[in-house]
Amino acid sequence: MNLLPFGKLPAHRPRTFVPQDIDLGDWPQIAPLFEQLELLAPKCRSAAELERWLLDWSELNAALDEESSRRYIAMTCHTDSPEAEKAYLHFVEQVEPQLKPRQFALEQIYVAHPRRAELLAIGTPASGTARANDKEPCRRPAFRRYEVFDRDVKNHVELFRPENVPLETEEARLCQQYQKLSGALTVHFRGAEKTLVQMGRYLEEPDRALRLEAWELIARRRLQEADKFDDVLDRQIRLRTQIARNAGFENYRDFAFRRLGRFDYTPDDCAQFHDAVEKEVMPVVRELQAQRRAQLKLEKLRPWDLSVDPLNRPPLKPFAEVGEMVSRTQKIFDRLDGELAGGFRQMDDLKLLDLDNRKGKAPGGYQSTLAESRLPFIFMNAVGLQRDVETILHESGHAFHAFATRDEDLYAYRSAPIEFCEVASMSMELLGNEFIEEFYSAADANRARRVHLEGVVGVFPWIATVDAFQNWIYTHPDHTRDERRRAWLELMNCFGGDVDWSGHEAARANLWHRQLHIFLHPFYYIEYGIAQLGALQVWANSKRDKAKALDDYKKSLALGGSRPLPELFQAAGCQFEFSARTIQPLAKMMREELEKL
Ligand SMILES: [Zn+2]
Repeated sequence: MNLLPFGKLPAHRPRTFVPQDIDLGDWPQIAPLFEQLELLAPKCRSAAELERWLLDWSELNAALDEESSRRYIAMTCHTDSPEAEKAYLHFVEQVEPQLKPRQFALEQIYVAHPRRAELLAIGTPASGTARANDKEPCRRPAFRRYEVFDRDVKNHVELFRPENVPLETEEARLCQQYQKLSGALTVHFRGAEKTLVQMGRYLEEPDRALRLEAWELIARRRLQEADKFDDVLDRQIRLRTQIARNAGFENYRDFAFRRLGRFDYTPDDCAQFHDAVEKEVMPVVRELQAQRRAQLKLEKLRPWDLSVDPLNRPPLKPFAEVGEMVSRTQKIFDRLDGELAGGFRQMDDLKLLDLDNRKGKAPGGYQSTLAESRLPFIFMNAVGLQRDVETILHESGHAFHAFATRDEDLYAYRSAPIEFCEVASMSMELLGNEFIEEFYSAADANRARRVHLEGVVGVFPWIATVDAFQNWIYTHPDHTRDERRRAWLELMNCFGGDVDWSGHEAARANLWHRQLHIFLHPFYYIEYGIAQLGALQVWANSKRDKAKALDDYKKSLALGGSRPLPELFQAAGCQFEFSARTIQPLAKMMREELEKL
């Protein structure tokens, strides 16, 4: 394909299992490799041979993953190219469905393998992880190399129930219904039809009457479909509860924890997170709301007063064109850390940055890792807003994670669980913001930092609300809609802060309809709260000792997904703990930092 922004990339390791000239979009060429792996497995007579087999499987996975990424990148960079779309859809429709059962078969073969116990006994000596320049001796004990991989594969195999396959198909159909329902919502505003996403920008308008008009239109439009949203969730709850029971779980929450691979924290830890947010973060939220109210000279803050700049200033203008954004971001990294800066420069040299907003490009931004070349790629639609600066710092954090794991040969270990991936990216927002003067005058730099930090404070209560709500839903699967609304409102009372919703009670009671995770990715949300706690700790560490904090950050990234979450956090110099013990000092730091801005 010639539609990629980058050219031929240097291979990180020569292939030893996957043929050089294979077409990885053609299933008849791929299938024999799976057959070969199935035939090779019983011939592994030692742990070393089984390890070799895992690396062959790894090589195949990385090659397939990169093929899929390349097609996705080409499509999102050229939405107007039928060729790119066809190539992407071919992979999704013709290759991926064939891959799933073959991957699962290999997982089963692995779990039942007579040499698995020997493989598991392979240790990585503690000395291998010792830090050369540490004054203290390394206290981390030797660990077993394949422990985390084994745990994940075994979990996946154990949760499988053939009777759940048709239920999961039905679940996917309901998810699609939600997407169709919310994607189709439009309103007529000032003579034009607009999507609710497009309406979002009117909530930032200084003219209060205009904001109110836009907000009410959005709220009314959503309320018209309220029954349909409730209906989708009712059916999802019934299905998910059945899926969980088929797999031997009492409720869907417990099943979801296992399915999401949450071995290192429990629903109880999440409950502590909710409590700590209420106790430690809510006072900061209320202070910020009071300041906003005073600055806007309002008696009461209403739901349409939350996104506007409280001093009615025009939007920040960090740069005029993308080249400027890249060179200034490069300067930030140059000042932060030479090694990270080198990674960003390499991405620019290899054209692994496609950042400008232009016709024929998909919306949004993402970082994608080319799994075989072991190189990161960043996609964005920068238009010159502060949001773009946040995005490039965030996605660069993910890219640094990909660079850090380049020498890990086990494909599964080159990526970490999302709870830690987001530590890599969110830390980079906070660390990069320290040098954001590269984009702004001193006053504007502080304004940008303030907007960012207010966003960090404000996301905690919403995460707690969404998580606690789902916890209630799936541990009370026989609830009525009225009971569900009451449960939601109780959480809004806890976490909504001082906002006056009078006259809009129905909109408040149904606010959760807009949170797509509740419908599409149940329970997947608190990950962002956990990661934000990690990022804030990295930032706090950097205030005490910048060199050590960055060193720890880089070392923890280099572990990829090879260790359990608590160890990844520990390596980054953070506690993996979400109670007030962790949150209280972080809330205090955020308050103090905000006071300076
Ligand atoms: Zn991210």
